[in-house]
Amino acid sequence: MAAIDICGITKSFGRTEVLKRVDLDIRDGEFLTLVGPSGCGKSTLLRIIAGLESQTGGEIRIAGAAVDHLRARDRDLAMVFQSYALYPHLTVAENIAVPLSMRRLNAARRLPLLGPLLPGTRRITAGIRAEVMATAAMLGIGHLLARRPGQLSGGQRQRVALGRAMVRHPRAFLMDEPLSNLDAKMRVHMRAEIARLHRRLGTTFIYVTHDQAEAMTMSDRLAVMMEGRILQLDTPDAVYDDPADIRVAEFIGSPR
Ligand code: ADP
Ligand code: MG
Repeated sequence: MAAIDICGITKSFGRTEVLKRVDLDIRDGEFLTLVGPSGCGKSTLLRIIAGLESQTGGEIRIAGAAVDHLRARDRDLAMVFQSYALYPHLTVAENIAVPLSMRRLNAARRLPLLGPLLPGTRRITAGIRAEVMATAAMLGIGHLLARRPGQLSGGQRQRVALGRAMVRHPRAFLMDEPLSNLDAKMRVHMRAEIARLHRRLGTTFIYVTHDQAEAMTMSDRLAVMMEGRILQLDTPDAVYDDPADIRVAEFIGSPR
């Protein structure tokens, strides 16, 4: 069974249709990349999968069940943003612990999600601390736990954002151009790190990029998007060797 089933998703903003009946089955544990030129609808599709935006038509199913009624946090998916979205006044450890602290507090006090955020993150229990340390060690930032985001490089901030997603042990990671704010050298380095993380965790990754090279090197499968449609869904080798049409060939850079 597909981990996440995207069935006939459409999305319009006003009169502009930006997703045109998108079908996509995402398999359990795979690294799937949505790749295509800027403006083709990648971020919109990812946000709909995450539950951050509603579709105009069609259905998303997770593990076989329709999730249209589920809010973002109940879908058990972790979104990693290109802007990192870290809290500048919290340490690295506290930033990574945010989802764990909130879960504990919500369960204990039935408080709304954002209310207890700041006091809650200050109270890191031994169990949470162990989880944060193990996650940070896996990402190579174990020595940075007491720093604040302003004292970190771009690559280190990206790792903290990944760590915060990882501590929840989500069903899938959703990443929207996570490396676009890094310099070229760090980007190549983080590509390899993310691919390694995927192999180690075995969790489903849905990755968005406009960078063909990034898509070709990291993915189990590519969904090549253009103008709101998926033109081809296949392994990088198959897309390169046998592009579905001339637009895919030109975008991927296949020999003609
Ligand atoms: P990509 O991530 O592939 O660059 P997006 O999903 O961000 O593309 O955008 C797809 C199209 O939808 C673009 O033409 C964009 O201008 C439009 N769009 C995205 N979000 C909105 C919005 N909130 N309101 C109106 N148009 C939007
Ligand atoms: Mg985008």
